[in-house]
Amino acid sequence: MAKKENELKVLVVEDSKVTMKALCNYLERMGIHNPLTAATGQEAIDIFRRKRPDIILLDAILPDIDGFDIARHFRATEKGDEWSAIIFLTSMDKDRDMARGIEAGGDDYLMKPVSEVVLKAKVNAMRRLVEMQRALVDVTQQLNVANKELQRLSTTDGLTGIANRRMFDELVKREWRRCVRLKKPMALVMVDVDHFKQYNDTYGHQGGDECLKAVAAQVARAAPRASDLAARYGGEEFVLVLGETTVDGAKWVANNIRQHVADINMPHSGSRLGHVSVSCGVASVLPTDDFALEDLLAAADEALYKAKEQGRNTVVCAE
Ligand code: GH3
Ligand code: MG
Ligand code: MG
Ligand code: MG
Repeated sequence: MAKKENELKVLVVEDSKVTMKALCNYLERMGIHNPLTAATGQEAIDIFRRKRPDIILLDAILPDIDGFDIARHFRATEKGDEWSAIIFLTSMDKDRDMARGIEAGGDDYLMKPVSEVVLKAKVNAMRRLVEMQRALVDVTQQLNVANKELQRLSTTDGLTGIANRRMFDELVKREWRRCVRLKKPMALVMVDVDHFKQYNDTYGHQGGDECLKAVAAQVARAAPRASDLAARYGGEEFVLVLGETTVDGAKWVANNIRQHVADINMPHSGSRLGHVSVSCGVASVLPTDDFALEDLLAAADEALYKAKEQGRNTVVCAE
């Protein structure tokens, strides 16, 4: 019969065959059939490593390894949210033995000979803790999944699927600092759809949205390196962050975007070209202490403005 997913896995570590038999009988009557068993410390450690039992009944005195040392070993090898309940079984009846057991990582302590009623009560108490622990791990996992999704949503533009402004603001600073460290130039390309207000007026807002998605895809395509970032800067404006890139390199990239958008040949009756086009402003600088990231942004913006002035569907580089 297949084991149920959430069935309790119990390990009994006991070198006395008689005690082991009695314990297994008690467990059997509690509905815990065929518990894992170990007669030595080494066996217990092997089983623990392979099976990760939920509850361990651990004899304090074993032929090879001291039970307290075994508990310490278990605790030291538990990873992340793993946790097994450890109940010591011992004939040592001094208060300080009990204190030692708890200190070594034990969760409870039972005196031998163990009564069936007491064992049942203690195992049930631990079962409750094990179930709470499992629920906690479940909730934590769900929370992690939700957090990842939240992270994705908060950094992605809902319409185009590329990075949003918030992501840009964060990453552009990081890339700037990286280029400062490497003493390499950093480039920005600002991309703006030409006569887009007119496009919306002609083809409707939904048509406009489709157009933005198509343009975004071309902008994203131009940023293949891991350190590149393509983001929606706002409205019908996009921005490319290109680390370790000179103005010539960025100009080449910008011109590719401009060409690719033109090549899609999306009809635009409000444009003299008859199709959708973009204008690009390019700026690149070797980051220094007296030149701020904001200056680079302003330079790219100004270049974009000039591209519009020069008739659109064009790329202009900042001085
Ligand atoms: P120019 O060639 O000088 O760039 O002119 P333009 O018409 O493209 O520029 P303008 O800034 O006047 O218009 C931008 C338009 O983009 C206005 C706004 O309604 C539209 N827009 C901004 N965000 C969105 C959006 O998410 N979806 C759609 N469909 N339109 C948007
Ligand atoms: Mg023993
Ligand atoms: Mg604009
Ligand atoms: Mg525009």
